[in-house]
Amino acid sequence: MRRGAAAAAAPGLSMSERRRRRVRRHGGLRSRGRMKTLFEEIKASIKNNYNQDRSFWRPVLPWGGVFTIKAGRKAVSCTPLYVEIRLKNTCTIDGFLMLLYVILNENESFPRELSLHFGREFVDCFLYLMDTYSFTTVKLLWIWDKMEKQQYKSEVHKASLIIDLFGNEHDNFTKNLENLMSTIQESYCSNWRCPTRVQEDQQRTISINPPQEIPHGNLIRLAVDELFCSKIELCEERGCGGLREFSQRIFCHGAPPFVVLNMQHWKPEDLAYVPYYLDLSDHKYLLEGATLFNKEEHHYSAAFQIDGHWMHYDGLRNVNLILLNKPPEFLLLSSLVYIRATEK
Ligand SMILES: [Zn+2]
Repeated sequence: MRRGAAAAAAPGLSMSERRRRRVRRHGGLRSRGRMKTLFEEIKASIKNNYNQDRSFWRPVLPWGGVFTIKAGRKAVSCTPLYVEIRLKNTCTIDGFLMLLYVILNENESFPRELSLHFGREFVDCFLYLMDTYSFTTVKLLWIWDKMEKQQYKSEVHKASLIIDLFGNEHDNFTKNLENLMSTIQESYCSNWRCPTRVQEDQQRTISINPPQEIPHGNLIRLAVDELFCSKIELCEERGCGGLREFSQRIFCHGAPPFVVLNMQHWKPEDLAYVPYYLDLSDHKYLLEGATLFNKEEHHYSAAFQIDGHWMHYDGLRNVNLILLNKPPEFLLLSSLVYIRATEK
């Protein structure tokens, strides 16, 4: 039986089974070398770049998206009826999806490791959809598989379902990374009568606060240490007067392959020096990229590196992926993304 006929004759297949079949089929095509993945195309374009043209030759993950539903007889009987899905304000996930794609392609062991957190099916589908330029579908995969319904607005307008992702990119992306970046820190007060002698502070995302006073040195590194390192402080419990000893902050599920540092409370002037590596919970992490926020337009974009070449991605531009001459200036920072260095 022809393959196409088999697929057409199996309309009752679950979504997941259909995805699995597509991935398998795609794997076959890839191994026979018939098509280049998006990542291979980007890498080739960096290699063949001779400074005249610093842009990638086709749009990569454009802002928004329209998904047309091939409605059969069954779909017509559904209410409310819609035949397309329109995505709006997707810049709150676009930059991170690009970063995730680059990270998964550049680090051989990461797809398997991230499958333990996100599920293997999600990782396979994500890579397949990005590889094959299925940009609207990959956004829908993120929205439906990782986001909660209350995290976005959706309404049916005429024959379209409109999904609006306007908001904060940490709400739309970073908070939905399962427990990848969950950390915990314990603390004990030296005073036996302290009403909250033992405390536990668990956080799902890594939000870095700028130091109160302005000390000299690398402010970001200092702020990361403040969050992660052990320390002794005066207990804040009223009238306690004891000393509170904080243990080292550790990752609940081991050091993750990548970390997103939420930098949205930092002023541009405090970001003059972005560290290229960080020590986090006994592991070394290297700077991979960043997401940037434009306040006037309430718009996010992203910068990342491939083979040491820095690129800037902005889904709203016509030419939306460009090679940078030098590392970007992180003036309007929303996040910094670091990847775990390979252990020797
Ligand atoms: Zn106390």
